[in-house]
Amino acid sequence: METIAIVGGGAGGLELATRLGDRLGKNGRARIVLVDRYPTHFWKPLLHTVAAGKLDPQVHQVEYAAQAADHGFQFICGEVLCVDRGARTLEIGSWRTDDGAELLPPRTLQYDKLVLACGAVTNFFNIPGAAEHSLTLDSVQDAELFRRRFLGACLQASSQRNGAPDGAAVNIVIVGGGATGIELAGELCHTVRSLAQYNVHSLDPARDVRIRIIERGDRLLPQLNPRLSARAARTLGRLGIEVCTGTTVARVEADAVHDSAGVRHPSDITVWAAGVEAPAICTTLGLPLNRIRQIVVTPELRTENDPAVFALGDCASYVCPVDGAAVPPRAQVAHQQAVYLADALVRAVGNRAAGFRYRDYGSVVSLGPFAAMGVLIGGANKREMLVGGMAARVLYRLMYQKHVMALHGFVRMAAQSVAHWIRGKVTPPVKLH
Ligand SMILES: Cc1cc2nc3c(=O)[nH]c(=O)nc-3n(C[C@H](O)[C@H](O)[C@H](O)COP(=O)(O)OP(=O)(O)OC[C@H]3O[C@@H](n4cnc5c(N)ncnc54)[C@H](O)[C@@H]3O)c2cc1C
Repeated sequence: METIAIVGGGAGGLELATRLGDRLGKNGRARIVLVDRYPTHFWKPLLHTVAAGKLDPQVHQVEYAAQAADHGFQFICGEVLCVDRGARTLEIGSWRTDDGAELLPPRTLQYDKLVLACGAVTNFFNIPGAAEHSLTLDSVQDAELFRRRFLGACLQASSQRNGAPDGAAVNIVIVGGGATGIELAGELCHTVRSLAQYNVHSLDPARDVRIRIIERGDRLLPQLNPRLSARAARTLGRLGIEVCTGTTVARVEADAVHDSAGVRHPSDITVWAAGVEAPAICTTLGLPLNRIRQIVVTPELRTENDPAVFALGDCASYVCPVDGAAVPPRAQVAHQQAVYLADALVRAVGNRAAGFRYRDYGSVVSLGPFAAMGVLIGGANKREMLVGGMAARVLYRLMYQKHVMALHGFVRMAAQSVAHWIRGKVTPPVKLH
């Protein structure tokens, strides 16, 4: 029986494993194996809400082993360290507990077809000090680290302020004015107010906590409609969040970010949300890559010089042959590619006449409970329509519900949504410790 191995159980990989397991694994037509370095899946677009303490990742995570048992695929926990394309094997590192104890030894997995869905990591663009002194939002662990540091900084500043009446401020600098950066800023603004309401700290949220976004482009959300950028900038301004556009970071230090104009931006915590690149493992495969190390794929999502290897999501570079546009690193793309590839692999792989075509339905961003806004794209001439208010809020929630539905079906998605809604009504709006 053919083995299809999938590396990475993220937005694209887990959905692909679930679909292939249902259609090929359950009836014994192929052996589907998913490998991920963690035992649980968490949908990455929610990471900023974990960082702000609004969402408990344990409540929203999916156990890979349970998903595998329900959907006819096998799960292996461990980091893929290297791929031998000649022998068609994967070397999987040992699985260890947080304190280093070995739970499972290193293993080797033989495959017939391989799908790389290992996502992306933060790109520091070789800016001096950025990797050493910035936090990132690449994983649940990163988001939890940020949350603890942020809470710690507020508590420390609060106790210092009690002793010194002129006040000690908390300075947060977010590098990158894309969706991740502005969404994190909005959520943090809400978190600091909620913590004050529960007397966790005695800071004045408006005066003592300074959140600053530094963006190299001349506007926020540079990839999206300029009217949306203007709307986001106005909302952030009303929340007291400082926005520095047209500002390039020159170097990062432990307590400050310096821009290329020589301005020093004091920073207790710097978050780097300015771009991504494919993980280092992509450079070891001997496959053609683009400038951010993404694996170049054909319209069938196959790699250029190995017909047994496919790639999708953030680690893949797909350029539409019709309009020459590169697809962005987005969950929407990973989802559409997983749907396409599941279909292609079920129909005996890649013999379909039509290649993958990305359809951009638009984007929605949420600034916590304060505002949501987005742009919908529809029609033959790709008309853009701005949405805000309740409509944008509903659309934003639907993005995640759609992902849950792809994994678990409608009934479980609906039951989970009700459970989360009830939970939200009986617990504080943010984690208080
Ligand atoms: C804070 C944040 C907010 C975002 N907001 C949005 C949004 O609003 N809308 C949107 O469309 N997109 C958003 N994105 C982008 C979106 O999350 C990604 O485009 C999407 O998750 C990509 O899916 P993927 O399957 O390619 O990779 P991922 O979802 O990143 O999954 C990669 C998986 O591979 C595993 N892995 C990596 N390397 C290895 C290895 N060597 N061995 C084993 N396992 C490995 C990882 O553990 C992970 O589970 C956001 C991203 C972030 C970080």
